[in-house]
Amino acid sequence: MVAGATRETGSGFDVRVTPGGLAEVLANALSVAPGLAEGTVLETRVGLRPAGPDIRPLLGPVAGVDHLIVAAGLGASGLTMGPLAGAVAARTALGLPPDQPDRTGQPDQPDHTDHTDQAGLPDPGPGPFDPLR
Ligand SMILES: Cc1cc2nc3c(=O)[nH]c(=O)nc-3n(C[C@H](O)[C@H](O)[C@H](O)COP(=O)(O)OP(=O)(O)OC[C@H]3O[C@@H](n4cnc5c(N)ncnc54)[C@H](O)[C@@H]3O)c2cc1C
Repeated sequence: MVAGATRETGSGFDVRVTPGGLAEVLANALSVAPGLAEGTVLETRVGLRPAGPDIRPLLGPVAGVDHLIVAAGLGASGLTMGPLAGAVAARTALGLPPDQPDRTGQPDQPDHTDHTDQAGLPDPGPGPFDPLR
C-alpha cells in the first residue's frame, strides 16, 4: 500500500520528510483505510514538482551554451507531458522543427494503413508511441 502525497508550494528543493507532511498523509490514509493503523511503515519517499519561474516548462536550447537542450520544470504534469517534452527536445537536438514531423526518411514513410473499422468509421486504435513522428 502506497499513500501520498502532500503539495507544498514554496518548499523549493527541500527533500526532508517532515512530521507535518507525514501526519497529513497518514491522517488521510487512515481516514479511508483505518485498518492500516496496525500496519508497518516500511519507507517514506519525497518527490518534487519543480516548475519554471513563470510556471511554464523550461524546454529548448540554452542560450549561450552550444548543444545543451533543457526539458525540465514540468511541475505537476511531468508524467503526462514528459513524452511530448522529450519529443520536442529530441527534435530540437536533431535540428528538426518541433511541430512539423519529418516524413521523408525511415521509418516515417507515408502511412497507407486503412484506419477505418468494419463500419467505415475512423479507428485510431492503440498504437506504439514514436516520439519522432
Ligand atoms: C507525489 C507526486 C505526484 C505526481 N503526480 C503526477 C501525476 O499524476 N501526473 C503527472 O503528469 N505528473 C505528476 N507528478 C510530476 C512528475 O513526477 C514530474 O513532473 C516529472 O517526474 C518530472 O520529470 P523530470 O524528468 O523533469 O524530472 P525527474 O523525474 O525528477 O527526473 C530527474 C532525474 O535526474 C536525476 N538526477 C538529479 N540530479 C542528478 C545528478 N546530479 N546527476 C545525475 N542524475 C541526477 C534524478 O535522480 C531523477 O532520476 C507528480 C510528482 C510528485 C512528486
